[in-house]
Amino acid sequence: MEIVPVPAFTDNYIWLVHDDASGETAVVDPGDARPVLGEAQGRGWPVTQIWNTHWHPDHTGGNLALKQATGAPISGPASGNIPGRDVGLSEGDEVRIGSHVGRVIEVPGHTLDHIALIFDQERIAFVGDTLFAMGCGRLFEGTPEQMYKSLQRLTGLPGDTRLYCAHEYTLSNAKFAVHAEPGNGITAERLGRVEAMREQGKITLPTSVEEERATNPFVRAPDVAKFAELRSAKDSFR
Ligand SMILES: [Zn+2]
Repeated sequence: MEIVPVPAFTDNYIWLVHDDASGETAVVDPGDARPVLGEAQGRGWPVTQIWNTHWHPDHTGGNLALKQATGAPISGPASGNIPGRDVGLSEGDEVRIGSHVGRVIEVPGHTLDHIALIFDQERIAFVGDTLFAMGCGRLFEGTPEQMYKSLQRLTGLPGDTRLYCAHEYTLSNAKFAVHAEPGNGITAERLGRVEAMREQGKITLPTSVEEERATNPFVRAPDVAKFAELRSAKDSFR
């Protein structure tokens, strides 16, 4: 599986997932169809599947145009309001690209319909707006309990699992992480690396389960109460 970011809007990443053996290409969370079609056509990768992690328009806004342009079917959370959805996904369902199998887990919190796609063999997970590098999504619909559990599930995956998040929020998250855990040397060191990468205009993703366990204050929170306190502090952190 080859995975390529397609930047969209101010800070979204739409992920193109290509399987050479089958010639299939899936697109994860196409908020906008145009940059996806541009990148896919440039690479000679016709889009054959569309996968959504949750209903938010910056993740699904390109669904219908992409489906119209490519004929690709749309798979997304069964419980969400997903434009053009052909296949509803719930806990335990699977998506497939060539011989690669992605397992669906439900990770409510940011929204109630949010799912993640876990490719266990490949050690790859598409996590949408649930977990970000050194941060997590805002709680628009779910409770702190739900989000805390969702983050624990994702970071319970093997340490070398690469996590593909849907936004470039790492620098602002890293600043908050250092503020939240001033004694964490690994976090401080990672902030330095992230600053350098962003100065050079580089993408900071994917992250890994191992790195998140070491530096993500929301993952490292010992309980729901501490998690909730951190989440509301981050909402107003500047
Ligand atoms: Zn969202």
